[in-house]
Amino acid sequence: MHKDITAYSIDPDQREKSFNVKLPNKCPSCNIAYGELPVCSYYITSTRIFLSDRLTTIYSIFYCPHCERCFFVQYSTSDDNACHISIDEVYPTPKSTTDFSDRIKKVSPKFVEIYRQSEQSENLGFKDICGMGYRKSLEFLIKDYAIFKYPDSRPDIENSPLSKCINTFIEEPQIKVLAKASAWIGNDETHYIRKHESYDISNLKHFISATVAYINYALTYLEASEFLQNPQ
Ligand SMILES: [Zn+2]
Repeated sequence: MHKDITAYSIDPDQREKSFNVKLPNKCPSCNIAYGELPVCSYYITSTRIFLSDRLTTIYSIFYCPHCERCFFVQYSTSDDNACHISIDEVYPTPKSTTDFSDRIKKVSPKFVEIYRQSEQSENLGFKDICGMGYRKSLEFLIKDYAIFKYPDSRPDIENSPLSKCINTFIEEPQIKVLAKASAWIGNDETHYIRKHESYDISNLKHFISATVAYINYALTYLEASEFLQNPQ
């Protein structure tokens, strides 16, 4: 959601101004949905002489009534009249990470660990390296799931490239398609040239999330089948 806010100039000779900014949709401390205007905002405009353009930085303080804490959002724009100025940084850095089911945690604890580390790196603004982390987490998820189903093939699974592992050891067509698509986008995050220009980290995360959902489903189905064969 974008709203007009009024910011005071840090330079006392300048007047207050209105900016159209994106409001944070969550509090970074308690992770509760949020849609309030800032309590107060300041701006400063500097001229970057060598680049011969102006940059306005806006600093806004927000108050979360749920956890009764304040947080700080920084925006920057080269056009003060721009619509939809996006968020540069949030302080404190959001700490929230995705929670996964106990089944997923049991089958692939490394997937959960690497995925959460990638989220933390994304939260810190390291957008060029977190994609590699998501790609790595996918590899652990798929290989650990394959090892769970075919424990005797562990050495083969561990030493195979991910694509071969998906083709050879993953039977469920939905997981196969989602894992392949995730791997293709994930590979773009590790290479110099991007093959799939219109897909990015958010698509990669959606595909991994759907892969996790299908693996959860498959694991639950296996549990139910085992129960029917040996009810106690
Ligand atoms: Zn809060």
